[in-house]
Formats: sequence, C-alpha cells, structure tokens
Amino acid sequence: MSETTINPSTTDNQLPSNIVMSGIRPTGMVHLGNYFGAIRNYVSMQDDFECYFMIADLHSLTTHPDTKTLKENVRRVLAENIACGLDPNKATFYCQSHVYETGELYLYLNMLAYKGELEKTVTFKDKARQHPENVNAGLLTYPVLQTADIIMHRASLVPVGKDQEQHLEMARNFVVRFNHRYGDIFPEPHAFNYNKSLVKVPGLDGSGKMSKSENNMSTLYFADDDETIRKKVMKAKTDSGPTAPNTPKPDYIDNIFMLMQLVCEPDVISKFEADYNNCNIRYGDLKKQLAEDMVKFMAPIRQKTNDILANDQYLVDVMKKGAEQASKSAVKTMKLVRDAMGLNYL
Ligand code: AMP
Repeated sequence: MSETTINPSTTDNQLPSNIVMSGIRPTGMVHLGNYFGAIRNYVSMQDDFECYFMIADLHSLTTHPDTKTLKENVRRVLAENIACGLDPNKATFYCQSHVYETGELYLYLNMLAYKGELEKTVTFKDKARQHPENVNAGLLTYPVLQTADIIMHRASLVPVGKDQEQHLEMARNFVVRFNHRYGDIFPEPHAFNYNKSLVKVPGLDGSGKMSKSENNMSTLYFADDDETIRKKVMKAKTDSGPTAPNTPKPDYIDNIFMLMQLVCEPDVISKFEADYNNCNIRYGDLKKQLAEDMVKFMAPIRQKTNDILANDQYLVDVMKKGAEQASKSAVKTMKLVRDAMGLNYL
C-alpha cells in the first residue's frame, strides 16, 4: 500500500486532495472482515474528511443475484453500516444506482482499459473459475466501474481491505491514462488504512478470508445471534498444541490470534501467547474467551441494526439525502470530464 499524507481538501479548480470514497456490495450480510477492513476506517474518517460511502448495488449485479432480494439487502447493509457508526449526517451515504452519471464515466473509462490487464485481475480469474457459466463483460470490467465510482467524487483516499489492493492499482492506471490523454482532472486514488498496512480478516476455518458469500460457518456476521457466534468460534480449527517452546504458529492458529487482536484485551492475548510459547495452551479456553469477547463486541451492533431496520422511513430519507448529495458531486465532475474530453459542441 502506498503511504498517504493527510492535508485538508481543496475544492476549486485545482486537483482536490483527500476526498474519501469507498463502497460495499449488498450481496449478503455485513461481517467482521467488512468492519475491520473498511467500515472502521469509514467511521474514523467521516470526522476529518469529505466522505462518500456507497452501497454498490450495481456491482452486485455482476454475479446475477435475484434482484427481488436487492431492496431488502440494500436496506440491511445501510442499517448495518449506520449501526457500526457511519453517520449519514457527516458522510454522504448513498446507493450506487442512484447516481446516473456513473454509467457515463464507466463508458469513457472502458475505452482506456485493456482486455489483457482486465483478464489478469485476480478477482476476475477467481470468479471466472467459480462460475464458468457466467463470465460476463460486467465481471471483466468490474475494476473500471469501481474506478468510475471512486473518481466520480475526485477521491484520492479509499478505505478498503487488502483484497482490494490490485483494484486500486488498476484505478491508478486508468486515472493516469485519462489525465495523460485529456488533462489533469483526477487525483490518483490510493487504498487507505489508518494503521498503514491493509487488513485481511481471516476465516474461522483457517483458510482464506471472511466473506459475504463463501463459507457461512467460517464468517462471523453481525446478524448472527450470540449462540451462533459462540458455535462458529468453538468450531474454529485448532490442534493438540505445540510440543516445543516458541514453535512458530501454523496459519490456522495464527488466524485465531489475529481475531483475538481485534476484540480481546491486550493482557488476555499476552496470557494466551505465553501459554502457547510454554506449550501449555488450552485451545478450548482460548476459544471460549474469544467467543465471549466477540459476542460482547458484535451483539450491540446487531441490536442497533434491528432498531434501524424497524424504521423504514428513516432509511428511505438517508437514501434520498445521499442520492441528492452524491448526484450533485457527480454532475460537477462530469461537466469537467466532458469539457476535458471535448464532448461539448453545443
Ligand atoms: P465486499 O464485501 O466485497 O463488498 O467488501 C466491502 C469492503 O470490505 C471492501 O473494502 C473489502 O476490502 C472489505 N473486506 C471484505 N472482506 C474482508 C476481509 N475478510 N478482511 C478485510 N477486509 C475485507
């Protein structure tokens, strides 16, 4: 991840600096990975920057979901983000499909994106392997649409998890090409995390990452009830423990310690680290502690989400206000884009 210095943003004709933009797909329930990879940064950044956060409903169409479920999923993801601390009065919080200009910018950027580089994208290759029957052009050009979303607000800081690093690198390439061809309209976007390195929250099965759609049992969702959280944590993969002092941890044990870093007190972690290094670790006790600390962290967010979901008018108002603010910013950017491209013959 490239390092980013933080200065106040400028909004006149100069290139703006430090506008923030990020998105989350409504493809399933929000999980711990989304929180520690992205949402936690949204919440910290909303006090200091001009922020645009988006529910990426158009992106979710690439995997052909049943669109009848979108309405409910969009509401849930909105509510979950707000319950995690995102404040629609501080940040512009909107749905991607409400900003009609995005399609236009996506079209222009597609002329600057090459088939070879798109085919090399890891997320594209993974999806194409998992669903060979649905290798559509939207999936191939996913990083182009993502770039359109980011630069629509001329954002340069993009709080995302580690899985998005390659997409951000592609976004920078598209921006450099656009600016080179048409003039300096866009700042280069960079992945952002307050702790410098990007976060990847691992799955509980010891492999891969927590994700909305992959393995339900290895992902902790904010919608999970207390018992489900406990059950999932207790099933996390462990072994009979190290047999020699200070043995390096296998990946699946390292992952459990990493999850502890997210929710447990430092002295609790130190105790289990010492137990591990002295070969007297009891994984049952460790998982019980982790499960309780997880419940303590996640249950209040679940309750808050349920309260927000019960107030549909509030969610509609949030969406309307977000659409208005995001569209205003998009209209401004597209005027600059069309002028720069020479698409202004009238
Ligand atoms: P998605 O759920 O793919 O729409 O991702 C929304 C945001 O959450 C993106 O910024 C991702 O990088 C981030 N994210 C998703 N899964 C994880 C994970 N397991 N660890 C860290 N960040 C993640």
